[in-house]
Amino acid sequence: MAEEDSFLYALSSNNAWAAYKSHQNPKFFPKLAEGQAPEILWIGCSDSRCPETTLLGLQPGDVFTHRNIANVVSPTDINTAAVVEYSVGHLPIKHVVLCGHTSCGGAMAALSDNRVGGVLDCWLAPLRAIRDQHADELNAIQDTKARAARLAELNVAAGVKVLMANPVVREAMRTRGLEVHGCLFDIASGRVRDLGVGTGSKYMMNGAQSQGEEVVVRGQHAQLVFSGGSAVMKVR
Ligand SMILES: [Zn+2]
Repeated sequence: MAEEDSFLYALSSNNAWAAYKSHQNPKFFPKLAEGQAPEILWIGCSDSRCPETTLLGLQPGDVFTHRNIANVVSPTDINTAAVVEYSVGHLPIKHVVLCGHTSCGGAMAALSDNRVGGVLDCWLAPLRAIRDQHADELNAIQDTKARAARLAELNVAAGVKVLMANPVVREAMRTRGLEVHGCLFDIASGRVRDLGVGTGSKYMMNGAQSQGEEVVVRGQHAQLVFSGGSAVMKVR
């Protein structure tokens, strides 16, 4: 049997999803249509494994988004600058989250000087500059995947600096306490970890909490308690 066309499948999946969401909450889509008031701006990688709203367990309307290859933040990129200016200055959001990820193809490619081709080498030039700045540290990491993950972290730290130098971001940090966070998404575990390179480190507990303590997801009638790699349903 021939495999179903992936876009046809996506459309039918969308149809089922919209019907399910409407059944769950008939006001969900009409309310969304009235406007948006997200509190988070997410700047992440275009990688298909990093869909911000899904991996955060959030919903349409929760996250304003900009994604590009290897989540590069350059001060002269008008695309990123427009997204930052609109979301910080106009919406206005409360948290800017710059998130890299493990197994990033962009970070992996930037580890070597082999040409990727076309415009891609130009796009990855900032990552290669960061690689050269931290050559000693990166070269000491034997495992290639771990080296790419460290480069992804360094790229996030550099991007956070660029964001915190943006005049609109600076103004919002000063006048209304806008927070800027640098994070890394670990694809193999599904966890987002705060790297502590932004405006505060109070969110750095997330990783420890998810490994050792209970994580509680509350529903209307019951709650799911995740602990030690297993989940238990408790009726309230
Ligand atoms: Zn990536």
